[in-house]
Amino acid sequence: YRKAEAERTQGLTDDASVAEHAGIAISMVLGDIENRKLTTADDIVMADRDMTARLLAARPDIRVGQGIDVHPFDEGDAVILCGVAIPYSQKLKGHSDADVAMHALTDAILGTIGEGDIGVHFPPSDPQWKGAESRIFLAKAVELLEAKRGIVANADITILAEAPKISPHVAAMRAFLAPLLKVDPSRIAIKATTMEKLGAIGRKEGIMAYATVTVRLP
Ligand code: MG
Repeated sequence: YRKAEAERTQGLTDDASVAEHAGIAISMVLGDIENRKLTTADDIVMADRDMTARLLAARPDIRVGQGIDVHPFDEGDAVILCGVAIPYSQKLKGHSDADVAMHALTDAILGTIGEGDIGVHFPPSDPQWKGAESRIFLAKAVELLEAKRGIVANADITILAEAPKISPHVAAMRAFLAPLLKVDPSRIAIKATTMEKLGAIGRKEGIMAYATVTVRLP
């Protein structure tokens, strides 16, 4: 490049021609039409579009899975929802970290591929899952999906809780889940509603969560 610049050489169109001009031996190898040269920002946008189209075209089998879970409150100082600890006067009771929303999400993914539910893969009777972080369960469900060459298209989670307040933590929850689901956070929705003081959830006896997931498979 220094030589080409010093000589103000015109017409060098790529790195190889610059090297050749500098006297460096160039050898040719057979290319692949798929291995397109990316030069401008537009080339990258086009290649991205192309790769996404191919990824989706190869996965025409679209499936929907549903998951529901509920955990009661217990003495504690924080509830964990979608991997985020929210300070509260109680915690959720469960064998694992009792992340009710992540359990619903995990069951929804397992539902798309007919792989049972969390309890099948991580029996509550097994002491090794005592206090376990629920992301282990979610990662397993995604792993089973990927073994079938499936990808997550979107996840929609609704948390039913009278308290604590969920909305200030939604962004952190989406950021936590995105790398586990291997999707952009924009493909994850987390919503919360109270039960207007009706029923067990309304009496603040626990938290319930629903999840719906869409996946694509070959
Ligand atoms: Mg559970």
